Amino acid sequence: MTQILDGKATSLAIEAELTEDVNSRLAKGLKRPHLAAILVGDNPASRAYVGHKVKACARVGFESTLVEKPTSITEDELLQTVQELNDNPDVDGFIVQLPLPDHIDDQRVLEAVLPSKDVDGFHPVNAGRMALDLPCFLPATPMGIVSLLDRAGIDTQGKHAVILGRSSIVGTPMALLLRRNGAPGNCTVTVCHSRTQDLAAHTRRADILVAAIGRAHFVTADMVKEGAVVIDVGINRIPDTTKKLGSRLTGDVDYDAVAPKCSWITPVPGGVGPMTIASLMQNTLQTCQNRDS
Ligand code: NAP
Repeated sequence: MTQILDGKATSLAIEAELTEDVNSRLAKGLKRPHLAAILVGDNPASRAYVGHKVKACARVGFESTLVEKPTSITEDELLQTVQELNDNPDVDGFIVQLPLPDHIDDQRVLEAVLPSKDVDGFHPVNAGRMALDLPCFLPATPMGIVSLLDRAGIDTQGKHAVILGRSSIVGTPMALLLRRNGAPGNCTVTVCHSRTQDLAAHTRRADILVAAIGRAHFVTADMVKEGAVVIDVGINRIPDTTKKLGSRLTGDVDYDAVAPKCSWITPVPGGVGPMTIASLMQNTLQTCQNRDS
């Protein structure tokens, strides 16, 4: 019997906990958590993602600031903006919405963010600390997936996890989190990428399959073992004439064909996406708490 890993419902439960934490902070006279986001240019998807984050801040009682910059901003000007947020004592944490325009070196900008305010967990200090299993800010998408598995009571111990994709924001940290010595964790992990040979031979051995490659319906039923837990990270826009916009969002998994084989599966939308935002909110509360002392 397939069960749905409901990221929407789980994220609402996390938001309710965060709201209580904020209220109890305020009752003690402590500061309201404050998240800032830098948005460069007018990429509609980036604007939508940032909008979701700003709305989530309002729902849980955080202050938020959206810093908008034109596509023509120079790298030095953007670094200056990052420095201003690093120096602003009222801002607990901030994100730089990716992708940045081609003339800007993403990595240089991400490395300019103070690690203690890096609530996206993209700074090499946080990535390195995660690899060493030390306290740090975890990147929001893999952090959200781990919470989803945990809150659904899915036992990961000793399971074979196969990750499709090795990006530094999803695939690689996902592999690190699932193989760490803890719960959830203790998986044996295989990471696949565009040069992997006979990919389906790997995916068919997965007890837990995480698809994060950005190709609509890439994972088909013949690639999935009976009873697997399938996590679909992909967000792809495909044509759909039945929709007002003429398109709709879909994941990397051919959901209708794969779901009947799974013990658990995340839908798209309503799976990993809301959990990513809830995790960013959790990191923001954490940085605010870190700064209390
Ligand atoms: P990315 O940086 O483009 O990385 C894609 C990865 O997939 C790469 O490692 C690439 O391999 C691999 N890949 C591409 N084609 C492949 C193929 N045919 N076979 C095997 N591997 C293949 O993407 P990303 O940032 O990790 O994001 C992945 C997807 O997740 C996208 O759809 C993105 O929109 C979505 N996403 C969703 C959330 C959320 O909150 N739901 C958050 C982040 C991302 P190489 O390394 O060899 O190139």
